[in-house]
Amino acid sequence: MSERALTLHQAMQSVGLNPLPQSFVNGQLLDGDGETIELIDPYSEERLFTYHDANASLANLACDAASSAQSHWYKDLTGAARGQVMQAIAQTVLEHSESLATIEAIVAGKPIRDCRVEVAKVAEMMAYYAGWCDKMHGDVIPVPSGHLNYTMREPVGVVFQITPWNAPLFTAGWQIAPAIATGNAVVIKPSELTPITTVALVKLAESVGLPKGLVNVLCGLGPTAGQAAIEHPAVRKVIFVGSPETGRIVATAAAAQLKPAVLELGGKSANIIYSDANLKHACLGAQAAIFSGAGQSCVAGSRLLVHASIKDELLELLANGMNRIKLGDPLDDSTEVGPISNRRQYEHVTQMISQAKDQGASIRTRQSDTDQGFFVPPTVIDGASSKADAAQKEIFGPVVTALTFETEAEAIALANDTHFGLAGAVWTADVGRAHRIANAVRAGTFWINSYKAIHVSSPFGGSLNSGFGRSSGTDALMEYTMAKSVWVDTGETPQIAFGYV
Ligand code: NAD
Repeated sequence: MSERALTLHQAMQSVGLNPLPQSFVNGQLLDGDGETIELIDPYSEERLFTYHDANASLANLACDAASSAQSHWYKDLTGAARGQVMQAIAQTVLEHSESLATIEAIVAGKPIRDCRVEVAKVAEMMAYYAGWCDKMHGDVIPVPSGHLNYTMREPVGVVFQITPWNAPLFTAGWQIAPAIATGNAVVIKPSELTPITTVALVKLAESVGLPKGLVNVLCGLGPTAGQAAIEHPAVRKVIFVGSPETGRIVATAAAAQLKPAVLELGGKSANIIYSDANLKHACLGAQAAIFSGAGQSCVAGSRLLVHASIKDELLELLANGMNRIKLGDPLDDSTEVGPISNRRQYEHVTQMISQAKDQGASIRTRQSDTDQGFFVPPTVIDGASSKADAAQKEIFGPVVTALTFETEAEAIALANDTHFGLAGAVWTADVGRAHRIANAVRAGTFWINSYKAIHVSSPFGGSLNSGFGRSSGTDALMEYTMAKSVWVDTGETPQIAFGYV
């Protein structure tokens, strides 16, 4: 066994897992009975594991277990008691931070310094929503009759969550925390390529008091395990985080069962840089926007919209910055950008760069620091048409497409000229212009002289091909609950004869 494989196995053991991906259903680690799935280390290209798809059999068990556990969690425990369990989860996540970060770094190929931050964010999510557990209340509505009318927020029941491979643990925490805080049970299917940290999170959570079966993890494929869970009668809502193409399939499958869905999909976000911006600051922001996480971020600033007067200067600054970024082993503390997370995505990113080149765009890139692994060095595509795939399609790699504008109207039109609506930013010293652009650009999240700041307390989501519905903040509390309206006849005034349904 290689040293990396040994490090991975030790990290898995220290969070209570066996050294292979297993689903976690009703408190038990279980092997699937479906087709074989292979996990490759994106840095060493060594095979880490083969395991079996959870398949419909484990999906059905997981949904049944979630259904049984939900009523105890919501009805037998007080909100305060649920909050205490979530605080304990936050604590155990922090105590196992290094093991969780190590697993994520090896399996997803993310730099360990980023993984440590994401683990801490998961603890923060649990603690934030722990505080909401005993604060979910409704309203009293002054209806024009002799009734007392009040509302309650009730949990949806069992929710099915599907997550991608780019930030597996972070996304699991982002969705599981608001779901359980509001009294739901969860079945979650992480990407088949990065399932382990989600299992670790839930197993650790159960070790500190989360009831058995309240959250179940399926290690496996979408069309088998995922489809079976969508169809299971206990599942009442589907939350999908992933690509627009799969989102369409998932929302259609949910709609066929008359189940609502939340879709958190991709983006092609515009990062607008004005000539009056602090260029050094803006350039650092532009690098972080697209090169951190090797660009595998839904909100990546993948379209750089630069005022024509500063284009040459800015691209020169960017090229200098690109040369200083440290690419390398995700386990190395000093690595800033790791490999692309898997071979399929590596092929997609490299194909998009070649296509842009074939279509006449110029490509600015740098040498990779290593000849092993699925590395794509930071790259700028310049001179592409705003209608070209390089400017319209999600590349999901460390590749930014630079476009220029002259006027504010042109910048806004370019920013809105995609089928997405997830995020965007503007860098300018003109406060009025910054707010005008923030208002005019179609985006669920928009930054002014900043990029990529997000927090569990603030809503997140998109429109059009970026999806619908919101995660995080108080909006997530609404997504994971339903209003119930209760009418009590007080006998105080005569009933109104008309106006009832
Ligand atoms: P993907 O759509 O290929 O897969 C996402 C998940 O869907 C995986 O768990 C996969 O197994 C599952 N799946 C596939 N087919 C399915 C089916 N038929 N039924 C049910 N589930 C199915 O996405 P990916 O390549 O893993 O992730 C990259 C994408 O995720 C990018 O588009 C990125 O922008 C997006 N993303 C969005 C957000 C957000 O919050 N908006 C966050 C992270 C990533």
